[in-house]
Amino acid sequence: MSHIETKCVQSGYRPKNGEPRILPIVQSTTFLYESSEQMGRLFDLEENGYFYSRLQNPTCDTVAAKIADLEGGVAAMLTSSGQAANFYAVFNVCKAGDHVVSSSAIYGGTYNLFSVTMKKLGIDFTFVSPDASREELEAAFRPNTKAVFAESISNPSLCVLDFELFADVAHEHGVPLIVDNTFPTPINCRPFEYGVDIVTHSTTKYMDGHAATIGGCIVDSGNFDWNKYADKFPGLTTPDDSYHGITYTEKFGKGAYIVKATAQLMRDLGSIQSPHNAFLINIGLETLALRMEKHCKNALAVAKYLKDSPDVAYITYPSLEGDKYYDRAMKYMPCGTCGVISFGVRGGRQAATRFMDSLKLAAIVTHVADARTCVLHPASTTHRQLTDEQMREGGIEPDLLRLSVGIENADDIIADIEQALKTIK
Ligand SMILES: *Cc1c(COP(=O)(O)O)cnc(C)c1O
Repeated sequence: MSHIETKCVQSGYRPKNGEPRILPIVQSTTFLYESSEQMGRLFDLEENGYFYSRLQNPTCDTVAAKIADLEGGVAAMLTSSGQAANFYAVFNVCKAGDHVVSSSAIYGGTYNLFSVTMKKLGIDFTFVSPDASREELEAAFRPNTKAVFAESISNPSLCVLDFELFADVAHEHGVPLIVDNTFPTPINCRPFEYGVDIVTHSTTKYMDGHAATIGGCIVDSGNFDWNKYADKFPGLTTPDDSYHGITYTEKFGKGAYIVKATAQLMRDLGSIQSPHNAFLINIGLETLALRMEKHCKNALAVAKYLKDSPDVAYITYPSLEGDKYYDRAMKYMPCGTCGVISFGVRGGRQAATRFMDSLKLAAIVTHVADARTCVLHPASTTHRQLTDEQMREGGIEPDLLRLSVGIENADDIIADIEQALKTIK
């Protein structure tokens, strides 16, 4: 099973003789044991097994194993949302008084999580440009820095990460690089191949692919040597009193990071994925390779159309020749990037609103990355209370439209855009 398309379909659930052909939903909070002694060993992590679905559930574990295989990692855990995945991924290696270096080109929800909520927990973030030079990146580090965070393709600004530079500088400073790989998915980019240590996902987007289920995932490459920097990561390398003094790196080796996230964070914070939702994600994953290919093919056709249109002021799509991130996209994700495009129509905010209201096939929704083409105009929705100047300060042009190209026929998507552009002239 060496090819990614095969893994999408076959990885994870491997039934034995007489078992259900497709992944069963183990809809049970708890699991039965015949002796309290065995149950005790499970609680102490002395023995492997299921006992309570807040910690682990067979359906969720099977889907996590598939995503780990797709990314080329050693272990993974599902979470209730992408937000929970990013919170756990970072919080698993830091505590109050610690510091994290993060790219500033990240999803708004993640930016808020870092700059407001985690700051309240005593964790400080320094935000750096996704195009920072080695020197600028190095200058952001402090003695208490515990991780570097970035997105492989940022939502919504569509910057492609300089993986090798970020990984190199993180490792020089003895910390892991954590990358949110939601937009390209492992079909188009496998960050572990470029030195990334931990990958996160909002499975809500392409992995589910049908806008049916909120979810997240964390995958560990198993490559970061926590023991080499034992002083920085005592949570992984010294005894955990809440588990009778086990040391995660000693007992679980390459699985230490995910076991700790499960045993401590999931136990205490409880942002679990439900088995039923994990089942839906698994169905989405089966067609992920097919869908990504189509999303990218359609998006490139739409991007080329928009680039040539006299009614379009600018367009950003990393797979489009001439894009600021084209060379980086070709290096790290040569088969395609994602289905999301951002562009502006001539005529500013008003024209953008009229254009959007005239679309018939593309729906106005607060979502990206599912099978149906959809569009969002930040200035008239999520950012509508801001002035044009305030929006520009936040890096968003008032006429910017975020178009998530679906898997319909590209000609129909383009025809819809064409008739809507006519209304703004
Ligand atoms: C949507 C998104 C998230 C948040 O995920 P939810 O599943 O909505 O909690 C995080 N990162 C990126 C890149 C996203 O697009």
